[in-house]
Amino acid sequence: MEVKKISYQVDEAGYYGKFGGAYIPEMLYPNVEELRENYLQIISSEEFQRQFQSLLKDYVGRPTPLYKADRLSKAYNASIYLKREDLCHTGAHKVNNTVGQILLAQALNKKRIIAETGAGQHGVATATVCALMDMDCTVFMGEVDIERQWPNVERMKILGAEVVPATSGSRTLKDATNEALRHWINNPVDTHYIIGSVVGPHPYPDMVTRFQSVISEEIKSQLREHEGRPDPDIIVACVGGGSNAAGSYYHYVDNPKVELVAVEASGLGNDTGKSAATTALGTEGILHGSKTLLMQTEDGQVVEPYSISAGLDYPGIGPIHAHLFESGRGQFVGVTDEEAMKAGIKLSKLEGIIPAIESAHAVAALSKLEIEGKIVVVNLSGRGDKDLDTYIKWGKY
Ligand SMILES: *Cc1c(COP(=O)(O)O)cnc(C)c1O
Repeated sequence: MEVKKISYQVDEAGYYGKFGGAYIPEMLYPNVEELRENYLQIISSEEFQRQFQSLLKDYVGRPTPLYKADRLSKAYNASIYLKREDLCHTGAHKVNNTVGQILLAQALNKKRIIAETGAGQHGVATATVCALMDMDCTVFMGEVDIERQWPNVERMKILGAEVVPATSGSRTLKDATNEALRHWINNPVDTHYIIGSVVGPHPYPDMVTRFQSVISEEIKSQLREHEGRPDPDIIVACVGGGSNAAGSYYHYVDNPKVELVAVEASGLGNDTGKSAATTALGTEGILHGSKTLLMQTEDGQVVEPYSISAGLDYPGIGPIHAHLFESGRGQFVGVTDEEAMKAGIKLSKLEGIIPAIESAHAVAALSKLEIEGKIVVVNLSGRGDKDLDTYIKWGKY
């Protein structure tokens, strides 16, 4: 009898196991269908790859280094490598995806770009590539977030984007997403919607994963140089929606010898009502057009998540991660605000690298894992410049 091999990649219908799909209003169907029909052919074309690789190299600054963190390694008696996505242009991995999507938008003859943003990091990465490509850019952002994240709002404006406040509901990310979707329904022909993580209806999770997969592709060849083998024992990445994690897992996901560790934000603690640890607290449901795990009340109202790091403050996870969790392929670890802040300060003092607080969650997970004697890659998704205020308020350094 033939044993069916489980793949952790997306299937033809856009599912990861039972998660994923495209649960969208009928009015959105033409937009999403146009993408679904064309994305694989476009991104595998020679012309696209030539442009994409050239921008990743000369504009984003890739390949990013795989750095052997000697003092950190010594502290854990392991070989710990940091994948330096913090050195990407704009300070995090998000630009890998926005570069890919704007080239795709051009290939589809789109003239305008829209995006939603919470903390503003995805908005900035989108405004950046729109300036680069001379495309009209509108970013939807909750009114509350505009107030909380004003430096990123100004950054987007300097880059030439228009920031439109979402004034309904809780006036945060989910309301900005609703506004963006409404706008897209009304402007289907000339507009592309750039989603910032491995979330949303199929094909977004797969498309964003492919654009971010450059991370694991580079890890493979860089680790071969350092260690004489392409595979680490363990890869650790933080998960908000899950794009930096999906990109750093991509070339290892079907190789069971490589342990995949996903780090979620436990905020003040999973039993405090102030957490964003989706696999610990979430249940199955539909969020932003895909079936996944999300934090919701019994009658299906999305629960407002909390984390000290804005990038992990999301009530769901991408369907790829819901599947990695349910199948047991991925190991999910929760890290609190306090653990993350301490790890961020520890990394600063040991290695001279101030990480984004999102990435500090991944570093903090090292003390919860059995890593002695192992080769571990931590994906350092972003740099801490944007979080300086939070570090200063935290104070304990
Ligand atoms: C946005 C962001 C994240 C979270 O997004 P993912 O899609 O989960 O990767 C993590 N780290 C940094 C630095 C970010 O800016």
